[in-house]
Amino acid sequence: AASSAINAAIAGGARERIIFKGGRPLERFAGVDTVCLDKTGTLTGALPHLAAIHTMNGLGEAEVLQLALSAEAHNHHPLAEAIKDHGAALGLTPQGHERCEYFLGQGVHAVVDGRDVLVGNYKLLQRFEVPFPQGDLRVSAMQADGLTVLFLASQGEVRGLFGVANPVRADAGAVVEYFRGSGVDVHLVTGDEALTAQALARDLRIPNVLVSALPEDKARLMVDLRGQGKRPAMVGDGVNDALAMVEAEVGVALGSHGNEAALEAADIALLGEDLEGVMKAHQLSRRTIRIIH
Ligand code: ADP
Ligand code: MG
Repeated sequence: AASSAINAAIAGGARERIIFKGGRPLERFAGVDTVCLDKTGTLTGALPHLAAIHTMNGLGEAEVLQLALSAEAHNHHPLAEAIKDHGAALGLTPQGHERCEYFLGQGVHAVVDGRDVLVGNYKLLQRFEVPFPQGDLRVSAMQADGLTVLFLASQGEVRGLFGVANPVRADAGAVVEYFRGSGVDVHLVTGDEALTAQALARDLRIPNVLVSALPEDKARLMVDLRGQGKRPAMVGDGVNDALAMVEAEVGVALGSHGNEAALEAADIALLGEDLEGVMKAHQLSRRTIRIIH
């Protein structure tokens, strides 16, 4: 009787584009006491847009954009898409680039027309030893507005700043509220920087925030929570969340923009467009487990 209830729930989930990879994920999700939500692409929608540009050290806005969209040409991160969309709307097209490396949770390094180009966060600048004052007012003003700041550096100097608006999903507040009401602790975990992340956490009333987190930091949080006797679920959208999904009691992936690595690492894959799928999956798990016991 238990297995037929579970099979029925798995089938019911599939009809709503919620894919439980077997009965165990369903049982485990019902028992989690902590839900860790990734920010970019998870709590925020998949369609961020470029809201501010500053240039410096001799390059103009079009040049800065041109370099950035060329460096991001093959990247499908939501932030990369925002830069590419903005450039395309201005009629800019990517220049050929010879080399490109992607640093998860940091950004990209590429060679564009023989020029060395970086697009990413402060950690990426530090990795390549590009100097930039930490307390820059343009940066903190954009962050205080909730914008995610990306640096464009070329030939050892920062030449542009991008502020990307990453609007929160319409259903994010309801999902956070639902988990809180169900007695589940909510954490926000993100590779983004403190000011931007804290602004969002405040809006959504999420008390626990982990910022500037690399994939291994997100994974370590899962290990730490389990060490404290907690049963955490990791909900994310990207390859940068895959490690944490594996370490979590349950990994849940949002897959609407084709993140194969996350979908593969996950125990539960949400193929719909909404974050609400996480809530529906949890309700379905709890209802099913209640029937069995
Ligand atoms: P989150 O954990 O919120 O989903 P990510 O780990 O995907 O965010 O990204 C963390 C940070 O890494 C971003 O805020 C950005 O600064 C930087 N980053 C990641 N991918 C890119 C990219 N393709 N181009 C520029 N910066 C990037
Ligand atoms: Mg993400």
